[in-house]
Amino acid sequence: MSPLKLLFISTPVGAIGSGLGGGVELTLTNIARSLMALNHSVTVVAPEGSVLEEIPLIQIPGNLQITAQSQGRDALITLPANSVLGNMWSYARQVQHDYDVILNFAYDWLPFYLTPFFDCAIAHLVSMGSLTDAMDQMLEQVVAQFPTSIAVHSLAQAETFRFKENCFNLQNGFDLAQYQFNPTPKNHLAWVGRIAPEKGLEDAVAAIEKAGIPLKIWGVIQDGSYWRSIQMNYPNAEIEYCGFLPTQELQQALGESQALLMTPHWIEAFGNVAIEALACGVPVISYRRGGPAEIVKDGKTGWLVEPDSIDGLVAAIAKLNQIDRATCRQDAEQEYSLRAMGKRLEIWLDRVVQSRNS
Ligand code: UDP
Repeated sequence: MSPLKLLFISTPVGAIGSGLGGGVELTLTNIARSLMALNHSVTVVAPEGSVLEEIPLIQIPGNLQITAQSQGRDALITLPANSVLGNMWSYARQVQHDYDVILNFAYDWLPFYLTPFFDCAIAHLVSMGSLTDAMDQMLEQVVAQFPTSIAVHSLAQAETFRFKENCFNLQNGFDLAQYQFNPTPKNHLAWVGRIAPEKGLEDAVAAIEKAGIPLKIWGVIQDGSYWRSIQMNYPNAEIEYCGFLPTQELQQALGESQALLMTPHWIEAFGNVAIEALACGVPVISYRRGGPAEIVKDGKTGWLVEPDSIDGLVAAIAKLNQIDRATCRQDAEQEYSLRAMGKRLEIWLDRVVQSRNS
């Protein structure tokens, strides 16, 4: 494939490096690295305050967007004054003729609405399943006109949309050299993610209390009252909040865990933290729901548990000695390297460019 000039427009819910953007922050970085390794050029446009190493970055000021997952199905489309989302797309409009493809990482109405108004091809990486009617309708409108323009992270995520056949399943990819295999864990479990209701942290806390094993928690506290309610409701659970760490430190700490618990209440589109755990040799115990159910190989790289079953989690914790940590690392290497994702990205982007030119 001949080298492409790519412009990435990041999520408007937080600066890259803040953690507020959730998995999108690391996903964007990994996608940029995998494409640059294949000789494509990448420039990233992101909210002011963003931090990116060795990838050209344009910082755009403006007010952040409210996260989409905290609203109901009939939520209206809203934008704050001096919207960073609007500002990033104004910038994209001005420079569009310097690029072959604009890659949108925002789960927001505006970039989808703008797609037919741009001369440059726009590809959308959708980071969540169906959440609101207004977004679904706009996504469907884009698919009708640009059938190849949407990629997702898992089949389960695609299933939440009426246009599931049109979704390119990109999955995800990671720089596995950044994650060290740890064969000798300490006596605790891990939970990693944004602390917000859809991530279901309280189930993990209930399970470790029953199982009698400590839990270490890493991630941004996005919803303070939710976090306080968990602390109040489980006063005897041995939990320790360890803050939000950069990847290098996170992987080191995560590697010391017996297993990662994933207890999402929503359809997790992918679950970056599952791969990060496997890459360190850490088995994953997850509900059989959403992306993690496509990542975890039951009985081989972890255990899949009936959704919302605390007893199921406790039973899986008791069976952790049956999982070989080296197998977990090998699985991440085979399926989720940057190289493997780079190949998938080229297939998708080629389709986007071809269909725009035809
Ligand atoms: N993360 C991090 N440091 C932490 C905790 C989490 O960098 O201390 C990152 C983690 O690497 C992952 C992201 O937060 O990329 C969470 O993404 P995931 O896909 O698991 O869930 P999302 O937040 O997108 O729902």
